[in-house]
Amino acid sequence: MFSVLTSCNLCPRNCNVNRFEGGTGYCRSDAEYTIASICIHHGEEPVIGGRHGICNIFFPHCNLQCIYCQNSQISRNNSDYPTAKTSLKAIVDKVIRLLGKGCESVGFVSPTHYIPHVHAIIDALHQKGHHPVIVYNTNGYDKVTLLQTLEEKINLYLPDFKYINAKTAWQYSGARNYPEAVKRSIKEMYRQKGNSLILSDTGLALNGLIIRHLVLPGMVNESKNILRWIAEELSPFVHISLMSQYNPPDGLRLPSHLLRKITKKEYDSIVKEMEILGFQNGWIQEPESAGFYNPDFAKDHPFSF
Ligand code: SF4
Repeated sequence: MFSVLTSCNLCPRNCNVNRFEGGTGYCRSDAEYTIASICIHHGEEPVIGGRHGICNIFFPHCNLQCIYCQNSQISRNNSDYPTAKTSLKAIVDKVIRLLGKGCESVGFVSPTHYIPHVHAIIDALHQKGHHPVIVYNTNGYDKVTLLQTLEEKINLYLPDFKYINAKTAWQYSGARNYPEAVKRSIKEMYRQKGNSLILSDTGLALNGLIIRHLVLPGMVNESKNILRWIAEELSPFVHISLMSQYNPPDGLRLPSHLLRKITKKEYDSIVKEMEILGFQNGWIQEPESAGFYNPDFAKDHPFSF
């Protein structure tokens, strides 16, 4: 599968660059195994990772460049964050060590620009007799054809649905075609998984689809339109994770309207819309969650505070 990197079209940017000859595409990622962090994370939704947490693999850079990204330390394509060139064996050995601490799930975070590597890591884990729950935790800027290659390997899809308006997607993430791409991607994930979310006896998510939506300040209508699209085009029975945790990250240049947290009035209005649309499954983060989730990747444990 690595041959696709000779003319990379892994995501809707369609850069057509040869990643074996350097990181010259939008995501500035070459063909090597490069990792920003592998760590245990206790996810925002209680079913992700369960009691022992999920072993998350963070790749550096991203095919979206959200101006407010809470992971900007590692996600900026011009970042000088010290990422390490590594090997498949080193990654798999570390993942297996963390699985040995009780983790039952392995998550790939913002994996779209590293899909061949994702395939190889999963295959290597299977070859070594490890079959954790595999979570594909994506910004949603994916391609249907690539998601189809993952159908037999991904247990749980965890996509964002960030924007439904092309102008917003351009202003905040530099991707005017994000809304059309994310709709196609989530429809494909829904085709693969449907409404179901299968849980273990201990409440660990084993298989299914959870759509995340982070509410941004001043964006009530955007959020409501996204929820309406999901209810009408997929189903009100799909699992939704509504997130209130937006907290303007330090050190980023943001427009003035993104320099605040969301208000209770904004959030309540969106929660009310979820009820009207008939959503029944998922999680609604507490409004006071803002600020609890900004990680520091310079630490051994980026999500500990
Ligand atoms: S994965 Fe990177 S190089 Fe490939 S098409 Fe997307 S942004 Fe371009």
